[in-house]
Amino acid sequence: MAARRMDGKVVVVTGGASGLGRASALRLSEEGAAAVVVADLDGERAAAVAGEVTAAGGAASAFAVDVTDAERCEELARDAVERWGRIDVLVAAAGVSSAAVGAGEQEHDGTDAGLLWSTDTWHRVVDVNLNGLMYTDRAVARQMIAAGQGGSIVNIASICSVWTSGNSTPYAVSKAGAWMLTKSLAVELAPHGIRVNAVGPGFIETPMTAATRADEAAAAGVTGRTLMGRFGQPREVADTVLFLACDESSYFTGSILYPDGGFNAPTR
Ligand code: NAP
Repeated sequence: MAARRMDGKVVVVTGGASGLGRASALRLSEEGAAAVVVADLDGERAAAVAGEVTAAGGAASAFAVDVTDAERCEELARDAVERWGRIDVLVAAAGVSSAAVGAGEQEHDGTDAGLLWSTDTWHRVVDVNLNGLMYTDRAVARQMIAAGQGGSIVNIASICSVWTSGNSTPYAVSKAGAWMLTKSLAVELAPHGIRVNAVGPGFIETPMTAATRADEAAAAGVTGRTLMGRFGQPREVADTVLFLACDESSYFTGSILYPDGGFNAPTR
Protein backbone atom coordinates (compact mmCIF):
# COMPACT_ATOMS: atom_id res chain seq x y z
CA MET A 1 0.00 0.00 0.00
CA ALA A 2 1.24 3.52 -0.83
CA ALA A 3 2.44 5.61 2.10
CA ARG A 4 -0.31 7.68 3.66
CA ARG A 5 0.11 11.13 5.12
CA MET A 6 -0.50 10.20 8.77
CA ASP A 7 1.26 6.82 8.78
CA GLY A 8 2.48 5.98 12.28
CA LYS A 9 1.21 9.17 13.92
CA VAL A 10 -0.66 9.17 17.22
CA VAL A 11 -3.37 11.84 17.26
CA VAL A 12 -5.44 13.44 20.03
CA VAL A 13 -8.62 15.25 18.97
CA THR A 14 -10.66 17.32 21.43
CA GLY A 15 -14.25 18.05 20.52
CA GLY A 16 -13.88 14.75 18.68
CA ALA A 17 -17.45 13.58 19.29
CA SER A 18 -19.04 16.06 16.89
CA GLY A 19 -18.70 18.28 13.85
CA LEU A 20 -15.19 19.32 12.88
CA GLY A 21 -13.45 17.25 15.56
CA ARG A 22 -15.25 14.08 14.46
CA ALA A 23 -14.50 14.79 10.78
CA SER A 24 -10.83 15.36 11.62
CA ALA A 25 -10.60 12.14 13.67
CA LEU A 26 -12.03 10.14 10.77
CA ARG A 27 -9.94 11.91 8.11
CA LEU A 28 -6.61 11.53 9.95
CA SER A 29 -7.34 7.88 10.64
CA GLU A 30 -8.21 7.35 6.97
CA GLU A 31 -4.73 8.73 6.17
CA GLY A 32 -3.09 6.03 8.27
CA ALA A 33 -2.88 7.45 11.81
CA ALA A 34 -1.57 4.76 14.18
CA ALA A 35 -4.22 5.75 16.72
CA VAL A 36 -6.74 8.50 17.37
CA VAL A 37 -7.78 9.51 20.87
CA VAL A 38 -11.28 10.93 20.61
CA ALA A 39 -11.75 13.30 23.54
CA ASP A 40 -14.95 15.17 24.38
CA LEU A 41 -17.21 16.26 27.22
CA ASP A 42 -19.48 13.27 26.80
CA GLY A 43 -17.49 10.04 27.01
CA GLU A 44 -20.24 7.97 25.38
CA ARG A 45 -20.41 10.20 22.31
CA ALA A 46 -16.60 10.15 22.14
CA ALA A 47 -16.69 6.34 22.34
CA ALA A 48 -19.21 6.24 19.49
CA VAL A 49 -16.83 8.18 17.22
CA ALA A 50 -13.89 6.01 18.36
CA GLY A 51 -16.11 3.10 17.28
CA GLU A 52 -16.57 4.69 13.85
CA VAL A 53 -12.79 4.98 13.50
CA THR A 54 -12.22 1.34 14.40
CA ALA A 55 -15.12 0.19 12.20
CA ALA A 56 -13.35 1.90 9.29
CA GLY A 57 -10.15 -0.04 10.05
CA GLY A 58 -8.32 2.43 12.29
CA ALA A 59 -7.28 2.31 15.95
CA ALA A 60 -8.89 4.60 18.51
CA SER A 61 -9.72 5.18 22.13
CA ALA A 62 -12.13 7.57 23.82
CA PHE A 63 -11.56 9.94 26.71
CA ALA A 64 -14.06 12.10 28.60
CA VAL A 65 -12.64 15.56 29.23
CA ASP A 66 -13.93 19.00 30.06
CA VAL A 67 -11.18 21.16 28.61
CA THR A 68 -11.86 23.87 31.20
CA ASP A 69 -10.42 21.46 33.78
CA ALA A 70 -6.64 21.93 33.48
CA GLU A 71 -5.78 18.80 35.49
CA ARG A 72 -8.14 16.67 33.39
CA CYS A 73 -6.34 17.92 30.26
CA GLU A 74 -3.06 16.73 31.80
CA GLU A 75 -4.74 13.35 32.44
CA LEU A 76 -5.88 13.22 28.81
CA ALA A 77 -2.33 13.75 27.56
CA ARG A 78 -0.85 11.28 30.07
CA ASP A 79 -3.45 8.65 29.24
CA ALA A 80 -2.78 9.02 25.50
CA VAL A 81 0.94 8.46 26.05
CA GLU A 82 0.39 5.50 28.38
CA ARG A 83 -2.04 3.88 25.96
CA TRP A 84 -0.41 4.62 22.59
CA GLY A 85 3.23 5.41 23.45
CA ARG A 86 3.39 9.08 22.43
CA ILE A 87 1.44 11.98 20.90
CA ASP A 88 2.48 13.30 17.49
CA VAL A 89 -0.51 15.48 16.67
CA LEU A 90 -3.13 17.44 18.61
CA VAL A 91 -6.26 18.72 16.93
CA ALA A 92 -7.91 21.06 19.45
CA ALA A 93 -11.50 21.44 18.25
CA ALA A 94 -13.52 21.62 21.49
CA GLY A 95 -15.51 24.83 21.43
CA VAL A 96 -18.81 26.55 22.09
CA SER A 97 -20.62 29.45 20.44
CA SER A 98 -21.91 32.45 22.34
CA ALA A 99 -25.42 31.59 21.15
CA ALA A 100 -25.31 28.06 22.51
CA VAL A 101 -24.01 29.16 25.89
CA GLY A 102 -26.31 32.18 26.14
CA ALA A 103 -29.47 30.39 25.01
CA GLY A 104 -31.93 30.12 27.82
CA GLU A 105 -30.51 32.84 30.00
CA GLN A 106 -31.65 35.43 27.41
CA GLU A 107 -29.33 37.37 27.74
CA HIS A 108 -29.01 40.00 30.41
CA ASP A 109 -28.09 39.40 34.01
CA GLY A 110 -28.61 43.02 34.93
CA THR A 111 -24.95 43.95 34.84
CA ASP A 112 -24.51 44.17 31.09
CA ALA A 113 -27.37 46.45 30.06
CA GLY A 114 -27.20 47.32 26.40
CA LEU A 115 -25.03 44.38 25.48
CA LEU A 116 -26.27 41.08 24.09
CA TRP A 117 -24.44 38.77 26.42
CA SER A 118 -24.21 38.20 30.15
CA THR A 119 -21.19 37.87 32.42
CA ASP A 120 -21.85 34.11 32.64
CA THR A 121 -21.84 33.76 28.85
CA TRP A 122 -18.61 35.71 28.58
CA HIS A 123 -16.90 33.53 31.19
CA ARG A 124 -18.10 30.22 29.76
CA VAL A 125 -17.19 31.01 26.15
CA VAL A 126 -13.75 32.34 27.05
CA ASP A 127 -13.21 29.47 29.48
CA VAL A 128 -13.87 26.78 26.87
CA ASN A 129 -12.55 28.42 23.70
CA LEU A 130 -9.44 30.12 25.11
CA ASN A 131 -8.55 28.84 28.58
CA GLY A 132 -9.51 25.27 27.64
CA LEU A 133 -7.50 25.51 24.45
CA MET A 134 -4.48 26.68 26.39
CA TYR A 135 -4.83 23.88 28.98
CA THR A 136 -5.08 21.31 26.17
CA ASP A 137 -2.20 22.68 24.11
CA ARG A 138 -0.01 22.98 27.20
CA ALA A 139 -0.72 19.46 28.46
CA VAL A 140 0.00 17.89 25.07
CA ALA A 141 3.05 20.08 24.46
CA ARG A 142 4.51 18.96 27.79
CA GLN A 143 4.24 15.33 26.68
CA MET A 144 5.69 16.16 23.25
CA ILE A 145 8.64 18.00 24.85
CA ALA A 146 9.29 15.06 27.20
CA ALA A 147 9.26 12.64 24.25
CA GLY A 148 11.68 14.87 22.31
CA GLN A 149 10.32 13.96 18.88
CA GLY A 150 8.58 17.21 17.96
CA GLY A 151 4.95 17.30 16.92
CA SER A 152 2.19 19.28 15.29
CA ILE A 153 -0.57 21.15 17.14
CA VAL A 154 -3.58 22.32 15.15
CA ASN A 155 -5.92 24.72 16.94
CA ILE A 156 -9.40 25.25 15.53
CA ALA A 157 -9.81 29.01 15.60
CA SER A 158 -12.34 30.75 13.30
CA ILE A 159 -12.89 33.46 10.75
CA CYS A 160 -14.00 35.26 13.92
CA SER A 161 -10.34 35.36 14.96
CA VAL A 162 -10.11 38.35 12.62
CA TRP A 163 -13.74 39.31 11.87
CA THR A 164 -16.75 40.17 14.00
CA SER A 165 -20.37 40.92 13.27
CA GLY A 166 -20.87 42.29 16.76
CA ASN A 167 -23.45 39.55 17.41
CA SER A 168 -21.05 37.23 19.17
CA THR A 169 -18.48 39.29 20.98
CA PRO A 170 -17.43 36.65 23.55
CA TYR A 171 -16.90 34.13 20.74
CA ALA A 172 -14.96 36.52 18.50
CA VAL A 173 -12.71 37.63 21.34
CA SER A 174 -12.08 34.03 22.42
CA LYS A 175 -11.15 33.09 18.84
CA ALA A 176 -8.88 36.12 18.43
CA GLY A 177 -7.19 34.86 21.59
CA ALA A 178 -6.94 31.38 20.11
CA TRP A 179 -5.08 32.83 17.13
CA MET A 180 -2.63 34.75 19.33
CA LEU A 181 -2.19 31.68 21.55
CA THR A 182 -1.29 29.76 18.39
CA LYS A 183 1.37 32.27 17.37
CA SER A 184 2.75 32.63 20.88
CA LEU A 185 3.04 28.86 21.38
CA ALA A 186 4.66 28.54 17.95
CA VAL A 187 7.43 30.79 19.27
CA GLU A 188 7.71 28.95 22.60
CA LEU A 189 7.69 25.49 21.08
CA ALA A 190 9.83 25.98 17.96
CA PRO A 191 13.02 25.03 19.86
CA HIS A 192 11.38 21.65 20.57
CA GLY A 193 10.48 20.97 16.95
CA ILE A 194 6.78 21.38 17.71
CA ARG A 195 4.81 23.26 15.06
CA VAL A 196 1.66 25.14 16.13
CA ASN A 197 -0.85 26.32 13.55
CA ALA A 198 -4.51 27.24 13.41
CA VAL A 199 -7.45 26.62 11.14
CA GLY A 200 -10.02 29.41 10.83
CA PRO A 201 -13.16 27.91 9.30
CA GLY A 202 -15.99 29.95 7.85
CA PHE A 203 -19.57 28.74 8.30
CA ILE A 204 -19.57 24.95 8.19
CA GLU A 205 -22.45 22.48 8.37
CA THR A 206 -22.11 21.18 11.92
CA PRO A 207 -24.43 21.21 14.95
CA MET A 208 -22.87 24.56 15.93
CA THR A 209 -24.40 26.29 12.90
CA ALA A 210 -27.75 24.43 12.94
CA ALA A 211 -29.69 27.45 14.21
CA THR A 212 -28.12 29.77 11.63
CA ARG A 213 -28.89 27.35 8.82
CA ALA A 214 -32.48 26.94 10.02
CA ASP A 215 -33.04 30.72 9.97
CA GLU A 216 -33.61 31.67 6.34
CA ALA A 217 -32.46 35.28 6.68
CA ALA A 218 -29.39 34.37 8.70
CA ALA A 219 -28.44 31.59 6.28
CA ALA A 220 -28.86 33.94 3.32
CA GLY A 221 -26.60 36.45 5.07
CA VAL A 222 -23.89 33.81 5.28
CA THR A 223 -24.21 32.43 1.77
CA GLY A 224 -24.59 35.94 0.35
CA ARG A 225 -21.23 37.01 1.73
CA THR A 226 -19.44 33.69 1.13
CA LEU A 227 -17.89 33.87 -2.35
CA MET A 228 -18.68 30.21 -2.98
CA GLY A 229 -22.31 30.82 -2.07
CA ARG A 230 -22.71 27.91 0.34
CA PHE A 231 -21.84 26.60 3.79
CA GLY A 232 -18.73 24.43 4.00
CA GLN A 233 -18.63 20.70 4.72
CA PRO A 234 -16.76 19.30 7.76
CA ARG A 235 -14.61 17.23 5.40
CA GLU A 236 -13.31 20.44 3.76
CA VAL A 237 -12.07 21.64 7.14
CA ALA A 238 -10.70 18.19 8.01
CA ASP A 239 -8.62 18.28 4.81
CA THR A 240 -7.07 21.56 5.99
CA VAL A 241 -6.43 20.05 9.42
CA LEU A 242 -4.80 17.07 7.73
CA PHE A 243 -2.42 19.31 5.78
CA LEU A 244 -1.31 21.15 8.94
CA ALA A 245 -1.07 17.90 10.93
CA CYS A 246 1.13 16.06 8.46
CA ASP A 247 4.66 16.61 7.19
CA GLU A 248 3.49 18.31 3.97
CA SER A 249 3.22 21.48 6.08
CA SER A 250 6.73 21.04 7.52
CA TYR A 251 7.61 24.71 6.89
CA PHE A 252 4.42 26.04 8.53
CA THR A 253 4.33 27.24 12.09
CA GLY A 254 2.49 30.17 13.66
CA SER A 255 0.18 30.27 10.63
CA ILE A 256 -3.56 30.21 10.16
CA LEU A 257 -5.40 28.80 7.14
CA TYR A 258 -8.98 29.80 6.40
CA PRO A 259 -11.27 27.22 4.80
CA ASP A 260 -14.07 29.78 4.53
CA GLY A 261 -15.28 29.71 0.93
CA GLY A 262 -13.98 33.25 0.54
CA PHE A 263 -16.06 34.66 3.41
CA ASN A 264 -13.30 36.93 4.60
CA ALA A 265 -12.18 38.15 1.17
CA PRO A 266 -14.60 41.09 0.95
CA THR A 267 -13.39 44.04 2.99
CA ARG A 268 -16.90 44.75 4.27
P1 NAP B 1 -19.83 21.05 17.49
O1 NAP B 1 -20.36 20.11 16.48
O2 NAP B 1 -20.73 21.64 18.50
O3 NAP B 1 -18.60 20.32 18.22
C1 NAP B 1 -17.94 20.87 19.32
C2 NAP B 1 -17.64 19.76 20.28
O4 NAP B 1 -16.89 20.32 21.40
C3 NAP B 1 -18.91 19.13 20.87
O5 NAP B 1 -18.82 17.73 20.89
C4 NAP B 1 -18.95 19.72 22.26
O6 NAP B 1 -19.61 18.91 23.20
C5 NAP B 1 -17.47 19.79 22.59
N1 NAP B 1 -17.22 20.63 23.75
C6 NAP B 1 -17.86 21.76 24.11
N2 NAP B 1 -17.39 22.21 25.28
C7 NAP B 1 -16.41 21.35 25.66
C8 NAP B 1 -15.57 21.26 26.79
N3 NAP B 1 -15.65 22.16 27.78
N4 NAP B 1 -14.70 20.25 26.87
C9 NAP B 1 -14.63 19.32 25.88
N5 NAP B 1 -15.41 19.34 24.80
C10 NAP B 1 -16.30 20.34 24.69
O7 NAP B 1 -19.15 22.30 16.77
P2 NAP B 1 -18.11 22.37 15.57
O8 NAP B 1 -18.72 23.22 14.55
O9 NAP B 1 -17.59 21.03 15.22
O10 NAP B 1 -16.96 23.21 16.28
C11 NAP B 1 -15.64 22.70 16.46
C12 NAP B 1 -14.70 23.87 16.59
O11 NAP B 1 -14.71 24.60 15.37
C13 NAP B 1 -15.09 24.86 17.68
O12 NAP B 1 -13.93 25.34 18.32
C14 NAP B 1 -15.77 25.98 16.91
O13 NAP B 1 -15.70 27.20 17.59
C15 NAP B 1 -14.94 25.97 15.64
N6 NAP B 1 -15.58 26.57 14.48
C16 NAP B 1 -16.73 26.07 13.96
C17 NAP B 1 -17.28 26.67 12.84
C18 NAP B 1 -18.54 26.17 12.17
O14 NAP B 1 -19.06 26.85 11.29
N7 NAP B 1 -19.06 25.02 12.54
C19 NAP B 1 -16.66 27.80 12.27
C20 NAP B 1 -15.49 28.28 12.83
C21 NAP B 1 -14.95 27.66 13.94
P3 NAP B 1 -21.20 19.17 23.48
O15 NAP B 1 -21.89 18.98 22.16
O16 NAP B 1 -21.53 18.16 24.51
O17 NAP B 1 -21.27 20.59 23.97
